[in-house]
Amino acid sequence: MRRLLIGASALAFAGAAAAQDARAITVEAVDGRRVSLHGADVEVREDGATDVHGWARRARAQAGLINAHLHAEAFNAEGRSLGVVDGGWNGALSSRDRSAEPFHIRLPADMANAAVRVRVTVEPGQRHD
Ligand SMILES: [Zn+2]
Repeated sequence: MRRLLIGASALAFAGAAAAQDARAITVEAVDGRRVSLHGADVEVREDGATDVHGWARRARAQAGLINAHLHAEAFNAEGRSLGVVDGGWNGALSSRDRSAEPFHIRLPADMANAAVRVRVTVEPGQRHD
């Protein structure tokens, strides 16, 4: 959350054109399927694209294959779902050092423009996008 606020301030200083993009989209990341999520945040890029990004890490003391991917579901101010975007982390989640792998999920513009909240969840199986 601290990073989100810093990001919003930086955008506000970038100029009036970016001001409407600086509104905060809150992010909720839900661990699951032996994967823990960290540092989830929303970034409005210079080209106007909106990315949900963060880090995925193997949950403590869990070995074996992790067959899972991520969903980013956006909600509008009325709490209605705007849809789900499939995503995943880069590479394998190491069981040796539990290193974190980054994820980036691009929200479509119509979804990003209406969203006030995004929930990232870990879903079973391969991504199907
Ligand atoms: Zn999926």
